[in-house]
Parts: sequence; structure tokens; C-alpha cells
Amino acid sequence: MLVNYAVFNSTFYISSSKRFYVSDERSTGKMACPVRDPASEQLNDYKKKLKGEAPVLLTANGAPIAEKKASLTVGPRGPMLLQDFVYLDEMSHFGRERIPERVVHAKGAGAFGYFEVTHDITRYCKAKVFSSIGKRTPIAIRCSTVGGESGSADTVRDPRGFAVKFYTEEGIWDLVGNNTPIFFIKDPLFFPSFIHTQKRNPATHLKDADMFWDFISLRPETTHQVMFLFSDRGIPDGYRHMNGYGSHTFKLVNSKNEMVYCKFHYKTNQGIKNIFSQKAAELSASDPDYSIRDLYNAIAKSQYPTWTFYIQVMTAQQAKTLKWNPFDLTKVWPHKEYPLIQVGKLVLDRNPENYFADVEQMAFDPAHMVPGIEPSPDKMLQGRLFAYGDTHRHRLGPNHLQLPVNCPYKAISTMHYQRDGNMPIYNHGNAPNYYPNSFSGPKECPAARSPPFHVSGDVDRYDPVDEDDFGQATIFWQKVLDEPAKERLVQNMVGSLRNASTFIVERAVQNFARVDVDLSHRLTEGLRKCGVHINALGKSANL
Ligand code: NDP
Repeated sequence: MLVNYAVFNSTFYISSSKRFYVSDERSTGKMACPVRDPASEQLNDYKKKLKGEAPVLLTANGAPIAEKKASLTVGPRGPMLLQDFVYLDEMSHFGRERIPERVVHAKGAGAFGYFEVTHDITRYCKAKVFSSIGKRTPIAIRCSTVGGESGSADTVRDPRGFAVKFYTEEGIWDLVGNNTPIFFIKDPLFFPSFIHTQKRNPATHLKDADMFWDFISLRPETTHQVMFLFSDRGIPDGYRHMNGYGSHTFKLVNSKNEMVYCKFHYKTNQGIKNIFSQKAAELSASDPDYSIRDLYNAIAKSQYPTWTFYIQVMTAQQAKTLKWNPFDLTKVWPHKEYPLIQVGKLVLDRNPENYFADVEQMAFDPAHMVPGIEPSPDKMLQGRLFAYGDTHRHRLGPNHLQLPVNCPYKAISTMHYQRDGNMPIYNHGNAPNYYPNSFSGPKECPAARSPPFHVSGDVDRYDPVDEDDFGQATIFWQKVLDEPAKERLVQNMVGSLRNASTFIVERAVQNFARVDVDLSHRLTEGLRKCGVHINALGKSANL
């Protein structure tokens, strides 16, 4: 039923929106039928490739199956026999088909392609992926929504994950970002709680506006990203029409071991396109897999999406004297002070062949860096360095980096001393399994050493309540958004806020008054029209 639903759905969407019918060559020509997109044609394409020659059906242990249309029974009415291995083999595997879905970013689309260097940045970074203009490195990308389950709709208001896996000759580099240059929180200790507010109420099993707005309004550092979320970019038109950002501050090191801090940006060459709320809600019902379908079809039609890759850099001295914390993930680095430096392009030109193997099992980990690219003190990044590998070991097992989609196949030889565990595809044969050893086991590579860096400070738990949580949100409201975009942001926020308890709404609107009193006035007025009466205006006057 579910499979049929997806096929039916795409056909319905095309025929109902475009009413575009042609005669079908495979039919007698008498009947008109809707044009089918490449995603709908996938099975026909598979059949064509095999030229009608189906391979022999085997059990999982490779024995030919003579009869697959009936289980093994005593007489036509049964009972069944325990020796029916054709049944047991199939059913016992079926019962184990699902692995835990990602706790965040569960719904996503993936594709493959390459990164090409177009501009030289070797003065900043020695990573071989940037070593020469024209150099191409294979990549995999997975884009996703964040909060919903793997069956949820694609066109929801949510940040989008934008993760890039570079298969470099120095190992895998995973740049695991979003379609926003910032995030809601700046300390990873909040992450599980923040995500819980996006998920379901533990009693009702429903999304809950109180949970979301309570947390948001109690933690004003969320304000900047919440403004992005409720702006037009909160619902991108598929995954091709949005930017990606590494989001965190990273460190780049050059061949002289000199360092700069860095941000990564990948700007869409398809142009930014967003979907307004009403249309997005319609699509959630008529085509919940809108973004996956869009990416698959574009690549299948050779309309390969591309992004231009940039960096921003900041010296250690600049970082030291900056008024604000350059490692704070709720803030951007202003373009004027830290201009974008062009590096290359990302191109997606190949669809996954098997979604589960190529996309569901794709495992990104911000801790996967290569020589020349290092973490900064960004607390959120530091927290993620642990969390991603940890969840993949739970989701996929300790040997997930040996899976074809994750393995560093471009690295000259992947040699280490990890052994055994579930499903070791390559267990290093008869090589020694301890270090140091006298028997030609893999040895260190001094050239990969990171330059030393200095840290100091009193150990404590620092809640940075005195940092400016509103300044950049104010610039965003006043300088980046035009009037219609402001109005849509207000309407989008009102549509969500109106569902929360009044005391929470008041607190949220007071926070937005610290962005701009005009914003809080408009929210108050919008809420009033929906029957939610708050006194945020009076309170905001005392701020
Ligand atoms: P700039 O004018 O140089 O940059 C503004 C940036 O805003 C643009 O480059 C664009 O980023 C982004 N932008 C434009 N429209 C929207 C939108 N509707 N929603 C989200 N982002 C949008 O000024 P600054 O660099 O000084 O930044 C000013 C403000 O812009 C910041 O306070 C921040 O809120 C926002 N911003 C800044 C970004 C940055 O990296 N500096 C990135 C995104 C937002 P892009 O070109 O990456 O699409």
C-alpha cells in the first residue's frame, strides 16, 4: 500500500497540477497517460537494463529457489513445515529490516558527485583536497529535515541538514552542516533538550507549541536562528535551491603550520527558492516526499545541481580582539569584515543506486577531518565531535566506517589496529593487532602532526548570559529582510506562537522586542487578530 501510494502520489501531483498527458508508446496509442518522471520510471529503467533477463532467485546462502509462490505445507491446507527455509530465510530477515532511524535528520535525500578546486587556498590550508586548481575529489551529500521522523513531510518549517562527505586521499572529511550559517544554541549540553522540544510531547505523542516556545523564550540565544526559521528560508523549495554552511568555526593549517580560523559556505547556483507556508502545507499532503523526488529527478534528467564553495577566514589575533565570541554558533561572521573567498564547486551528478545502502547507512561525523582542517574551540563543534560517532556506533555498529558508502576508499591504505566487532568487512587479515610492534604493522605519519596550540582558563560551567543574543538578529530584521519578507515572517511566527500558553507567548514577544520593538508590535497585533491578547507591548516599553 505504501509503495503504491508513493507512485500514485507523484502521478497524481503531475497530472493534477500540469494536466499534461501524452500517448504512451507502451500502450496501443489509444489511451492518453500522464508523463512519468524519472523517479516513477525507476523500475522500468531497471528492467530495460537487464533486457528482460531476470537472474536466478537464490536463498541468502546462495541456493537456487525452485518455488517462491507457495510455502511448504502438508497438503494444500497446511500446516507449514519448519524445514521451509525459503520462508524462514525471507521472514527472519524481514523482521530485521529496520535499523534505528537517526534521532535527528531522520528524513533525507542523498546523492554523489565531486568537489572541484577553482581557486587556490593553499596559503591557508594544506589539506590535499585543496592542493591544486582543477583537482576533483569524489563527494557524497545528504540533505534532510531535522525534527521529523523518516516518514514525515519534506516541506515542513525546519532547518535543513546539508552534510558533505569528501572521499580524499588523506581519508574522509565530513563537513556536517545545515542550510543556515548559525544554530539555535551555543552549548551542546542543551542539545537533547532542544531536540526534545521539536519532537513529541511524552504524554500526548503530539508536537507541542508550549514545549517549543517555552524553551526558545527561556534561552534567548535561540532568537537569531528562530528568525531565520520563520523567514522565507525556513521552507526551502527542495534541496537544490538552498545554501549550505559548515556553520561552525573551524581551524585551517597550511604547510608552514600557520593557522587561521575558518567558516565554510556553499551557495546554490540554482538560486535561492523557498515555498510559502500555504503551498508547503498543501505539498505536505499531496507530495510528502517533494524534496527527495525533486533531487532524484533533477539528477536523473542530467540537471546536475551545483554549489559554489567559499571560505571566510579570521586570524588568531583577530579572534582574540573581537568584541564577540567568534566560536559562538548563534552568530555569523559579517561578510564585510570577513569576505567570502571562493574555493571551488560542489557538483551532484549521480543518484544513489540503493537508498538503504547508499543513504540510510551514510554516516557523517564532524570528527572526521583530514590534516590541515581542525576543530576550533566552538563548544557545539566539540560536543558534536563525540555525539555523531557515538550514535553511528549505536545505529550501524562499530564497523560502520567499513561500509562501502562510508569507507575512505581514496586513502592509499586504511590500516589501523581496530579489530573484530559486529560485521568487520575488512579485518586486516594476518597483520599484527597491537602497537608498537616489530613486525611491520602500520606506522605513524609525522607530517600529519597538528601544530601545538595554547589553552588556558579556569575550569567552570559558563552560562554566557552576558553575551549579545540580539544584535545580529536586529541587523537581519532591519537590513536583510524587505517589507513583504518581514510581514511573512510575522505571519509565520504568529501562526505558531498562537498555539502556545499566553505566559510563554508574552515572554517570547518580549524577547523579540529586544530585536526590534517594531517586530514585537507586529507580533502583538497579529496575535490579537487571532484572539491572543498579550501585554508584551507594555512590558517591552520597560526593556
Ligand atoms: P551582508 O549583507 O553582507 O550579508 C547578508 C546575508 O544575509 C546575505 O549574504 C545572505 O547570506 C543572507 N540573507 C539574505 N536574505 C536572507 C534571508 N531571507 N534569510 C536568511 N539569510 C538571508 O551582511 P552581514 O554579513 O553583515 O550579515 C547581516 C545579517 O545577515 C546577519 O546578521 C545575519 O542575520 C544575516 N546573514 C549573514 C550571513 C553571513 O554569513 N554573514 C549568512 C546568512 C545570513 P547568503 O549569501 O549566505 O545567502
